[in-house]
Amino acid sequence: MGLQIYNSLTNKLEEFKPQNGNKVNMYVCGPTVYNYIHIGNARPVIFYDMMRRYLKFLGYEVTYASNITDVDDKIIKKAIEGNTTEKAVATMFENAYFDACEKVGSKKPDDIPHATDFINEMISFIQKLIDEGYAYNIDGDVFFRVSKLDDYGILSNQVTDDLESGARISVDSKKESPLDFALWKKTDVGIKWDSPFGEGRPGWHTECVVMNYKLFGTGLDIHGGGMDLKFPHHENEIAQFKALYGTNLAKYWIHVGRLDLAGAKMSKSLGNVIYVKDLDTKKDGMILRSLILFSPYRSIINYSEDLVNQYAKEYDKWQRMYKQVLYTAQYLDLLNNKNVDDSDVLKFKEYMNQDFNVQNVLTLINDIVKEINTSLRSKDYDKMIIKFNTFNLIFDCLGINLFIEPMNPEQLDVYKKWNEAKQNKNFELADQYRGKLQEWNLI
Ligand SMILES: [Zn+2]
Repeated sequence: MGLQIYNSLTNKLEEFKPQNGNKVNMYVCGPTVYNYIHIGNARPVIFYDMMRRYLKFLGYEVTYASNITDVDDKIIKKAIEGNTTEKAVATMFENAYFDACEKVGSKKPDDIPHATDFINEMISFIQKLIDEGYAYNIDGDVFFRVSKLDDYGILSNQVTDDLESGARISVDSKKESPLDFALWKKTDVGIKWDSPFGEGRPGWHTECVVMNYKLFGTGLDIHGGGMDLKFPHHENEIAQFKALYGTNLAKYWIHVGRLDLAGAKMSKSLGNVIYVKDLDTKKDGMILRSLILFSPYRSIINYSEDLVNQYAKEYDKWQRMYKQVLYTAQYLDLLNNKNVDDSDVLKFKEYMNQDFNVQNVLTLINDIVKEINTSLRSKDYDKMIIKFNTFNLIFDCLGINLFIEPMNPEQLDVYKKWNEAKQNKNFELADQYRGKLQEWNLI
């Protein structure tokens, strides 16, 4: 059976079949660059990076796009406060964002569209919506006319009546309906562009839709993001896209759960925020990555010190095994053996194909680690290297790096001499070499 994915649009597990043969197009909503990202923001960054790796492992040709929202009220506010430009604020936090991505082992997307590079496209998109009666301009603010769509609420499974009563609290007197959302905002402060509707800037929901269409047309397979983006952001993306192009923008909508800190949503105002930049070491980045990847992706993660310690222990265990086996394999010249255990790989695929059943994957990994350690002790090196290769294949797919390099020639030489001395029962000499290896942190 192929990959089964939970589609938020249908609320069902579905067999994954991209629209265009072997090609997969993915779009994941990226950050608004006005601050550093916290470990909750890192969850989608990590999950979709893994998904891209896994789709590639399955043989798909993946194009992964994730945008940068570089125009927004918060960016403008920060620019004014810092007496600088929006561009300077956005560039600084975009760089910080990619540093954080690297820290948690996530590669850059293939396409990184910036909202401000597509302003003309956004203006003509909004104009088209107006021309077709899906949008209206009131004093320079343009709104989407929700009532013109039959099935608004399709993603969040809400009916318009319920949504309306919820939205009425923040009723904007200018709009025809409280559900209508801004496509273009008339602005007095901060960066703005000229348009047929007046000076202003595009709304966030419009930015993502236009960049999506520009990159993929109607060929988007996966649209991802955090669960909190489902409504209104993704709902409103679908509404605009449907109005002009007749489809739900993406075939599969995938949403990743929240990460809570001590049982509460992380928020700057509550002061309970851990920033990715503040993780001390790259190892801490990988422990976070493991913790996030091995938690069921649609559930809330309750982040706690206990949970971190649990994964830190796992990580140490993997590292210990990895070190011993890599050096042994290097010493015995086994690294040319690239075979893997096919039945383990099959199990890995079977679990991942069940909508990323990561808990079974973790059990499989730990079984493999046990077998590696057993075969190392019993000197069954053939089995050891095959299981080790399998372990590596899975970890590459997950993007978990253990940061252990093979020995350099000098180190390998001492390692060999240490083993020879032990075999010759020259313990004094063996101890000298051992001291050297310990100095290098190899044993
Ligand atoms: Zn978006």
